[in-house]
Amino acid sequence: MTTTPAPTPRRRIDLSVASEPSIAAKAIPAEELAALQPTIDAINALKAERNAIVLAHNYMTPDIYHTVADIRGDSLALAQEAARTDADVIVLAGVHFMAETAKITCPDKTVLIPDPAAGCSLASSITGADVRLLRQRYPGVPVVCYVNTTAEVKAEVDICCTSSNALAVVESLDSDRVIFLPDQYLGAWVATQTDKEIIRWHGACEVHERFTGAELRDYRAGYPGIQIIAHPECPPDVLAEADYVGSTAGMINWVKSNRPAKVVMVTECSMSDNVAVEVPDVEMIRPCNLCPHMKRITLEKILHSLRTMTTEVLVDPAVAARARRSVDRMLAVSGAPAPTPAAAR
Ligand code: SF4
Repeated sequence: MTTTPAPTPRRRIDLSVASEPSIAAKAIPAEELAALQPTIDAINALKAERNAIVLAHNYMTPDIYHTVADIRGDSLALAQEAARTDADVIVLAGVHFMAETAKITCPDKTVLIPDPAAGCSLASSITGADVRLLRQRYPGVPVVCYVNTTAEVKAEVDICCTSSNALAVVESLDSDRVIFLPDQYLGAWVATQTDKEIIRWHGACEVHERFTGAELRDYRAGYPGIQIIAHPECPPDVLAEADYVGSTAGMINWVKSNRPAKVVMVTECSMSDNVAVEVPDVEMIRPCNLCPHMKRITLEKILHSLRTMTTEVLVDPAVAARARRSVDRMLAVSGAPAPTPAAAR
């Protein structure tokens, strides 16, 4: 006799978590919010209808971040939540490599990106062929790649990392030398914290590499007592001026915990807008370096994406399976359970 397996229970999406009107009202001027409300309502209705969630990176604008995002976070948090969710559809409000990572982690789900042209200067700085050449040049040396890479690159490396866990990932490897790619600055920052030799690729984030140490010294002179917190994608002379260096999630937690009187967050500028509303007692000094790729994602495009179920992100299954091993190894180092392989579901 054959038996039909019980269906996997589906998690209900709690839209009350996604929509925080009091925070949205603080973050967005009333007239603007009123004008956006029909779009916000339409997105939230479609999410419920399609069992969809919106994963939003910390660099999204406040109208996305505070109204339609179900999960907000840095690359690591988004990868972990993509692995955990039982939604059928994931809308990735971020850049293309993040949507690819979600697809690699959840090959049986529909992953949508509201604008497929949302790229990243780091992801476009290296190819799978480059990684194969590095392996020939440094035989036996393990390769770590930042998640800001294409699926093709993730498929060629031993393990991925994010700026949250880069040091832990490097330290987890049983080798005195590690190839780290593609971000030369994140690699340089990791090298200052480990005894391992770090062999770096020459990529850079076009947003963070524009900051300078001289600019930060000017902030110190102009705002006595200011705290400077910086993302490790910044050049070394910038990090040398910082009171704290960490991922976007680390920076947000640092501000919430330490409540400095004045702070400058040396990263993409939407993050200061998003955090400011949650820490009204902290004066944010806001340098404005915008990521043109992140800014391609808008509420209107999210709505269009959910209405038309476009643009679906697809990854060649053979590439995805190899890339998934690198992502799963990272998630294991970060304490997140690796998801069940799709074939076993
Ligand atoms: S901020 Fe930098 S690392 Fe992030 S998506 Fe933009 S270019 Fe890429």
